[in-house]
Amino acid sequence: MDMQAAVLRGINDLRLDRRERPEPGPGEVLLRMDANTICGTDLRLISGAKTAGVRPGVVMGHEFAGRVEAVGEGVEGVPLGAQATCSIVLSCNHCPACLAGREHLCENLELFGYAIDGGMAEYMLVPRRAVENGNLVIAPQELDPTLLALAEPVSCVINGANQFRVQPGESVMVLGTGPIGLLHVALANLAGATTILASGRPGRLEPALEMGATDAFDLTGQALTDEILSRTDGRGVDVVIVCVGAPELANQALELAAIGGRVNYFAGFPKGSTAEMDPNLIHYKELVVTGGSNARRADVRTAVELLSSGRLPVGSLVTHTFPLSELDAAITAVRERQGLKVAVLPSESR
Ligand SMILES: [Zn+2]
Ligand SMILES: [Zn+2]
Repeated sequence: MDMQAAVLRGINDLRLDRRERPEPGPGEVLLRMDANTICGTDLRLISGAKTAGVRPGVVMGHEFAGRVEAVGEGVEGVPLGAQATCSIVLSCNHCPACLAGREHLCENLELFGYAIDGGMAEYMLVPRRAVENGNLVIAPQELDPTLLALAEPVSCVINGANQFRVQPGESVMVLGTGPIGLLHVALANLAGATTILASGRPGRLEPALEMGATDAFDLTGQALTDEILSRTDGRGVDVVIVCVGAPELANQALELAAIGGRVNYFAGFPKGSTAEMDPNLIHYKELVVTGGSNARRADVRTAVELLSSGRLPVGSLVTHTFPLSELDAAITAVRERQGLKVAVLPSESR
């Protein structure tokens, strides 16, 4: 039996191919895919802007939700038909990063949708090593598959948020209101921030307000800095989260932070980026500057719990869905920034 799969054959060569449907061997789990959301990282993988850890010929998709279709010999506690997703980071568990509790930055990591066949296919095999490592996550209750697929971006945002830990009553500024910025807004709200400011494109301010921002601005540069400082009596905010990979935001984030504030460069910047920064902003304000990339297995479990609880207002985040057979239209929708989050639904192609 074969299946449809979105195969990245090489740079700018993503195709809907026929592939042999995988059969689960000993210790493996086969998922029947229901949804796979697409993000900017997928575009960077397609265009070749990001090549590290990418295997030519891989099935793309790292934000997915499926259902257990079959299990291999020796797999226990994985019920057939259960809704599931995966932590996409398969870590080695023995490198210095893994041993230091940063498995998501593992020196030998392999990622679903990069090296391991991912979720943009009718079926996806969870390899034995991933099953044994606890990467498979069963949803505690039925969820809309497009929401369960968001467990991956939500888990990354949770890992980022753990770097700066918003406290009740604090003020937060989110630079960028794409899906990631919106998720940061929602988490800051859950953490008890009382002022949540966001900046982004005009069409994406309303969603920011819906997800918990107290105010949202279509401003950039000095105009934005002036606005934020005027709203905070010239003090700036406790936490600044950079969710757009624009190098000029690196220094602006430092300007927006209050004394003792925390700044997080959550977005990845284009390879080789440099930014001019005033180090005295960090020195005199005693700022704490952090980053964030990928997520731990525990973060994915937290993300699934949070999505299942309904406490994260993500219901309107997925604005466009396409059957997998309309892959090109889905990729175009992401590229042209139509709406917020775009999903392909392999189940609708069957
Ligand atoms: Zn992604
Ligand atoms: Zn490792």
